[in-house]
Amino acid sequence: MKILVINAGSSSLKYQLIDMKNELVLAKGIAERIGMDQSLIKHKSVGKDKFEFKTIIKTHLDALKLVLDALTSSVHGVIADMSEVSAVGHRVAHGGETFSMGTLINDKVLKVIHDNIVLAPLHNPANIMGIEACMRIMPNTPMVAVFDTAFHQSMPKESFMYALPYEYYEKYGIRRYGFHGTSHKYVAQRAAFLIGKDISSLNIISCHLGNGASIAAVKTGKSIDTSMGFTPLEGLPMGTRCGSIDPAIVSFLIEKENFDTKQINNVLNKSSGMLGVSGISGDFRDLEAAAALDNKRAKLAIEMFSYSIKKYIGAYSAALGGVDCLIFTAGIGENSLMVRKLSCCGLDFIGIKIDNEKNNSIDEILCNEGIISTSDSAVKVLVIPTNEELMIARETAALI
Ligand code: ADP
Repeated sequence: MKILVINAGSSSLKYQLIDMKNELVLAKGIAERIGMDQSLIKHKSVGKDKFEFKTIIKTHLDALKLVLDALTSSVHGVIADMSEVSAVGHRVAHGGETFSMGTLINDKVLKVIHDNIVLAPLHNPANIMGIEACMRIMPNTPMVAVFDTAFHQSMPKESFMYALPYEYYEKYGIRRYGFHGTSHKYVAQRAAFLIGKDISSLNIISCHLGNGASIAAVKTGKSIDTSMGFTPLEGLPMGTRCGSIDPAIVSFLIEKENFDTKQINNVLNKSSGMLGVSGISGDFRDLEAAAALDNKRAKLAIEMFSYSIKKYIGAYSAALGGVDCLIFTAGIGENSLMVRKLSCCGLDFIGIKIDNEKNNSIDEILCNEGIISTSDSAVKVLVIPTNEELMIARETAALI
């Protein structure tokens, strides 16, 4: 069975074609700058050369046609025609309170994704464009939506409610939803597999540390709490997002700087976080390079990020009633030995002990996957490359 995974953003469309027999990625790529000038498609098929092709891509439908051409091309392709694709799995940002798992897309499901635009105004419309393009070109192929929020729907009410007047939850759905659910679910399952335990017996803390970063507490395979909230702004400080701050700062800044809602949102989402603190960059590679040259604010940004992770590890150990596994994933989690080391430092009291040698060499020796804790560490600390596409493909295959 071959599954096409689609991740449609506002100006891009990423895709992977996965053969579920051996979970092999047959082809993957991205159509970029959709609706802009200089749009292009980058494509790579297994065992074949990469290719890049600049062309006009006005809409997601145009992009998808190019993707299908690439997949079936006699030179770059991997399938003879699209009938070989059993189903399409779509990454969808927000499923609100309706979806706690992936679901087959029909008119009703599409309407709920539409209704949730209010909760994810940047992401859900792009996801819908991807779904509608696929439905037009492949009307007889089953489509599945896999939601970033779904995994966290198992949170109990005391985790997901905010202490605001209850009517705002009822009127506007203001509550913690959490994001990166597909990633947290994948790495939690993978960790259980790697340590040879049943996930139903484990308390897991999963740290997805990319440009956007979130931490999840996973008990018996289910999310019971997570750091992102009503939007992906809450929780850890991130590349350019402030993370959790005293909410009174918002009205204070609005008054002092005369900001309107758009301007204050821009400050909180785009010029805060690692970028705001360092004044250099929101990208961790730049920060580490600057910190190595003794840049004080770059060092401070890294320390703030790592300290915040440590606090969540402490809090979620308490929420879970102890922890068996701690996982680092995504760009920073998979690559920054400094962040892993700083955020675990001093946590021996809850049984977390990192082996410095393993932490330093995991990328070279184990292709970024494996255990980096000492053999006497009560908590297994793992680095696991996330694979949201594979998780989406697995859920899609299971559903059809
Ligand atoms: P997203 O998917 O949220 O855009 P990624 O998971 O791709 O984010 O992670 C991007 C982050 O990972 C960036 O801050 C980048 O600097 C960081 N990163 C990637 N490679 C390295 C590395 N080798 N060392 C340190 N940080 C890295």
